[in-house]
Amino acid sequence: MALTVRADLANLPDYIPGRKIPGAIVLSSNEVSTPAPPSVLAAITEAAAEINRYPQMANDDLMARTSRYTGVPEERLAIGCGSVSLCQQLIQAMCTEGQEVVFAWRSFEAYPIVTQVVGARSVKVPLTSDYRHDLDAMLAAITDRTRVVFVANPNNPTGTALHTGELERFLDAVPDHVLVVLDEAYREFVTDPDLPDGLALAEGRENLAVVRTFSKAYGLAGIRVGYAAAPPAVAAAVRKVAIPFSVSRIAQAAAVAAMDAAEELLARCAPVARERERVRDELLAMGYEVPASQANFVWLPLGDRTAAFNDHLLAHKVVIRAFAGEGARVTVAQPDENDAFLAAARTFER
Ligand SMILES: *Cc1c(COP(=O)(O)O)cnc(C)c1O
Repeated sequence: MALTVRADLANLPDYIPGRKIPGAIVLSSNEVSTPAPPSVLAAITEAAAEINRYPQMANDDLMARTSRYTGVPEERLAIGCGSVSLCQQLIQAMCTEGQEVVFAWRSFEAYPIVTQVVGARSVKVPLTSDYRHDLDAMLAAITDRTRVVFVANPNNPTGTALHTGELERFLDAVPDHVLVVLDEAYREFVTDPDLPDGLALAEGRENLAVVRTFSKAYGLAGIRVGYAAAPPAVAAAVRKVAIPFSVSRIAQAAAVAAMDAAEELLARCAPVARERERVRDELLAMGYEVPASQANFVWLPLGDRTAAFNDHLLAHKVVIRAFAGEGARVTVAQPDENDAFLAAARTFER
């Protein structure tokens, strides 16, 4: 009999990374465009000197530092290779074949992938007409087979965000057999005071897990590390399904150093948030539709014109993330990079 791989993987959607074009301005992956500071680079170099040794199996030092940094007890924490890995581990910890995972669509493109890999079914609930989570429809989509609901707040790729009250009402209404996974990859860029802090929300709730990452605001996208805060039994299961030693010695050291340098790193977020408002205002003045964003990117729902917009920007050496037929997601970066994007957007004929 011939060798076969799982037939269902043929229709697994590909995760499409941002394109890298030499000399281009890269606004496609929601990274910060400034390199890591000397203290973080020094910690990485120091860890590299011992790279012949395995890292700590249970991420001991990083667990302790994350607990101190977040105020979340270690029994409620898990470390992973970025929050994508933690989303996958949460699904592996909660779901088996035939069960259901509910999430908004469009939202983060990793959700359908991690769901299908365990043989669970994605239940995609369309965003509202103003590109926000439709929490009532998501509640209505929950069945006896639902095990997890993903909520990205702010949402990727639309940048829209849920307020504290509406999220609390949702969490109160979700049945007990369902874990809500709040993905706060962009929490540090939020400026609206009425948005929830997932870690505070999770304190009193046994049906909420929060995933956070060092990839975005902390500027460590290349090193792959993040953490989850979850009810103790869930956190333990997430740790259990991790690939042993998958968080490298270098990643562990970098994340500790990033928390030590948090003040310096997070000081970069407010200027990005101000640029976000400037970019959006200029786009609105050009006649584009741009939903209000709380993240480090903006969403242009261009529909059928998305591919042409993408081509136009590529011709101007600006790389963005296009979802053909739907819209374009553009990272807010340094003012000169944003200006290059705005100049190109200005000459696009819609
Ligand atoms: C970028 C992003 C992540 C972070 O992924 P990492 O694996 O931590 O780099 C998680 N969730 C969303 C919604 C994102 O946009």
